[in-house]
Amino acid sequence: MIRHSSSKKDSMFYFGVDYYPEHWPEERWPDDARLMAEAGFNVVRLAEFAWSKVEPREGGYEFSWLDKAIDILGQQGMKIVLGTLTASPPPWLMSAHPDTFRVRADGVRVTFGNRREYCLNNPVYHDYTRRIVTQMAKHYGDHPTVIGWQIDNEFGDRCYCPVCARAFQNWLHRRYGSLDTLNQKWGTVFWSHTYTDWSEIPLPLTTGGSPNPGLALDFFRFSADSYVAYQQMQMDILREKCPKHFITHNFMGFMYDGLNYHALAEPLDFVSWDNYPLMMNADAARMAIAHDTMRGLKRSGFWVMEEQSGPHGWENVGPTPRPGELRLWVYQAISHGAEGIVFFRWRTSRFGTEQYWHGILDHDGIPRRRYQEVKRIGEELKRIRNMIAGSRCRAEVAMLLSYDDRFAFQIQSNNSRFSYSDHFQLYYEALHRLNVPVDIVSPRGDLSDYKLVIAPTLHITSEEIVSNLQRYVEQGGVLVITFRSGVKDEANAVVNLPLPGLLADLSGIEVVEYDSLLADGRNGLEFVIPRLSTMVRKTSCEVWCDIIEPKGAEVVARYTEDYYAGRAAVTQNNYGLGETIYVGTIGDVAFYHALMRWLLEKAGVEPLLATSRAVEVTAKERDGRALLFLLNHASQDEEVELEKRYRDLLTDKAVEGETTIPGKGVLILTQE
Ligand SMILES: [Zn+2]
Repeated sequence: MIRHSSSKKDSMFYFGVDYYPEHWPEERWPDDARLMAEAGFNVVRLAEFAWSKVEPREGGYEFSWLDKAIDILGQQGMKIVLGTLTASPPPWLMSAHPDTFRVRADGVRVTFGNRREYCLNNPVYHDYTRRIVTQMAKHYGDHPTVIGWQIDNEFGDRCYCPVCARAFQNWLHRRYGSLDTLNQKWGTVFWSHTYTDWSEIPLPLTTGGSPNPGLALDFFRFSADSYVAYQQMQMDILREKCPKHFITHNFMGFMYDGLNYHALAEPLDFVSWDNYPLMMNADAARMAIAHDTMRGLKRSGFWVMEEQSGPHGWENVGPTPRPGELRLWVYQAISHGAEGIVFFRWRTSRFGTEQYWHGILDHDGIPRRRYQEVKRIGEELKRIRNMIAGSRCRAEVAMLLSYDDRFAFQIQSNNSRFSYSDHFQLYYEALHRLNVPVDIVSPRGDLSDYKLVIAPTLHITSEEIVSNLQRYVEQGGVLVITFRSGVKDEANAVVNLPLPGLLADLSGIEVVEYDSLLADGRNGLEFVIPRLSTMVRKTSCEVWCDIIEPKGAEVVARYTEDYYAGRAAVTQNNYGLGETIYVGTIGDVAFYHALMRWLLEKAGVEPLLATSRAVEVTAKERDGRALLFLLNHASQDEEVELEKRYRDLLTDKAVEGETTIPGKGVLILTQE
C-alpha cells in the first residue's frame, strides 16, 4: 500500500531527475529548471549528499541555497524528494569523532574520502543523524513543493567495529535469551568454542578465519537489522514532523545481497531502486528480474530513483546508451511496476569521484541526443500517463527469494561453482524467455494467488516456511524445490533428518547421497516421462547431483553416468490437491526450457505471447483491462504475430496480425 495517499499516487505518474544544484552556479539554475520542464519532468530528487553544504559548521545550518533551488524548480512545476543527508557526513564531523568510521571485515578502520564511511550503530553518529534529520524535517515539513524523502542512500556494507561487537552481543542476548541456548544452537562444542560470557562472542572478522556458520549467519542478520533500525530512527522523526510526506529508500536491485531487503522495505511507503543496466552488463532478463524483485518486496508499485541516463563510471567510462535505450528502459520499468522514473542525473559533474558518471547533459551543460530522447519520453508520458497510472502487474507464477539463504551461501557456497543468484536466474530466465510474468516474493508470504511457485535452494527452513508451502500444495499448487533445500535449521546447523529435511514429506523423496562436482565435472541427464523426453531426450548437468530415492514420488529424470547412473535426479510427488517437483541438480538451458514448458502446462499457466528472444512481453491490468507491453531489446526490427486486434497507446494506431517492432522499440497494446 502506498501510504502517503493512494489517490494522489494514482493520478500522478512521476517522471524526473536527480539534481545537484550545489555543483553549479546559481545563475544556471533557472535554465536547468526550464529545460527540465521542457523535458516533461514533474519531480526532482535533491540533496542526499549535501550535508556539508546544509551544515557547513557544527550547528550552523544554511538552508537558503536549498530553499532557493527548490523555489526555482517549484516555479517550473517540479515536486521535490529530499535525501536525509546522512549518506555523506562532513569532514568536521568525522575528524572530531574518528570512532564513527566504519571497520571493514579485515579489521581495518576506513578513512575519509568516499561516502557512507560511518558505523551505523555508533551512538555519536546517531546523535548527529537525529539532529540533521530533525533540522531538515522541521524546515521542509510544511513546504508545499516537497512531497517525500529518501532515507540515506543505497544502504549496504557491514561494520566490524567494537561498538558493533557490543551491539551484536546484545542482539544475540535478545535472540537466544541464554548462553546455553546459543551454545547449543551454534554447536560451539566444536573446536572448543563454548562461550561463558556474552562479551566473549567475537565478530566474524576475516582475521579469525572461517567462522562458525551459526555465528556468521547471525552477524549478517544483525547487520541487516541494524540498517532497519537506523532507517527507522530517521523515519520516526520524519513521520512526526512531515506526516504528509512519503518515505522511501533507494535499493540496489536483485544482485545486491548484503541486506535483508524484505525487512528493510517493510516500514517504507514504497520501494525505490537504482537501475544501471550498462553497469550490470544486464540483458533484458537481468533488468526484468531486478524490477520484479523490487516490486515483490512490498508486492506493490515502486520507483526507479536512479535510472541510467548516460555512460557510467568512476575511474573508467562505461559504454554510452544506444539510441532508443533510455526509452526502452523506461517502458520496461513501467511494464514491471514502476510508478515513478527519476534519471540519474541532470548534468555530469565536472569534479569529484563520479565526474565520469554521466547525466542527461554532458559536462558542458548542452542538451544533446540523450536530452532529446528523454524529452520524447516526457511528451509520450504526458499523453499516456492517465492510461497507465494505477495499472498493476499480475503474475500466476511466483519465485521465492530468501535473504537468509543468500547469507548462508555467502558463508558456505557448498561448491565454488555454485551461486544462489545465478541458480535463481536460471529459472527466472526460462520463464522470461517464454514471456511468463513472475512475482518474486518471500517464502513466508501468502502464495494462494499463484498456480506455480518455484523455490530455488530453499536452504534454511523453519516450521513456518514449511507449513506455508504445505498449505499451498495441499490446496492444489504446483511447487518446485531444488537441491540443497531443507539442509539447514534457522541457526545454520545441518538438520538431524534425512534430506531434504522438513521438506521430505512434501517432496516424497530421500536424498541418500550427493556429489559435488568440481572444476568441469558433469553428468548426463535423461528425461523419462514422455512429455519431456519428446522435447529433450538427453542433456547434461553440473555443479551438484543429489542422488534421490523416491519415497512415493515419480521419477522425472535420471542420471546417465558414473556409479549413480539410472538413479533419480528430478522427481514429481502428488501431495494434497497439488504436487511438488524436486530438481536435484543444475541442468543446461535446454533442460530448463523443457522443464519450464512442462511445469507451465501442468500448472495451467499460458505464456503471454510467443516471440523471438529479443522481444520481451509483459502485462499490466487497469480497471479490468489488460495492457500488453512489447519491448524489442535488439537493435534491428523484429516481427511479432498478434492474434487479436489491438490499439497501440504510443501511436494511437490499430495493430493486428504480423507487426513490426523497430529496433529498441516499444508497443503498449490494449485490446480494441
Ligand atoms: Zn560499527
